[in-house]
Amino acid sequence: MIKTAVIDIDNTLWQFCDAFYAELKKINSAFPLVEQWTTWDFFRPFCSEEQFLGAVDAVHVRQDSEEFRPYPEAKGFLRSLKEQGYRVIIASHRRTEMREPTERWLRAHGLAFDDLHLSFDKSVLFKDAAVVVDDAPQTLEKAVANRAIGAGLLFPWNRAFAGNGFGLFGDLNEVLAYIEGRGAESGTRK
Ligand SMILES: [Mg+2]
Repeated sequence: MIKTAVIDIDNTLWQFCDAFYAELKKINSAFPLVEQWTTWDFFRPFCSEEQFLGAVDAVHVRQDSEEFRPYPEAKGFLRSLKEQGYRVIIASHRRTEMREPTERWLRAHGLAFDDLHLSFDKSVLFKDAAVVVDDAPQTLEKAVANRAIGAGLLFPWNRAFAGNGFGLFGDLNEVLAYIEGRGAESGTRK
């Protein structure tokens, strides 16, 4: 049976928040440091929602630029999932127009995947997912509600949600170990 792993890009395969912070600073130099991004609406005192989303796009449209590097563990992480028999769906919350730079970036860095899903609701994939890796707590909660193993990297915006049925870790090697442990414990599904 094919097991599916749904893997996020931003703040999962690379440090999106640093590139995003640089964009936000162009809008308002008073933007707080990433360490202070503890809520999803942290931006509201500093810019409009339209400006905020524009800054997201400004990063995504240059996804394949030289300066945007994946985490050192990202390539091996995806390769290990493939070797363990997972069908890897890379799923990113971004506009479908960003497919080309996104795909170029994945290929340039040897990040293995079977499918690339770009949308504003990746939870449509969770019904058949054995594993979901993401940094967004709401996304991980939906994953766990669908009986998937949920895990991600620990950040200021998800710290308060630790212990809600998913694992949050310092790097992707620890995420992988958690997935392997949970898979062995529960018997992998799908
Ligand atoms: Mg993310």
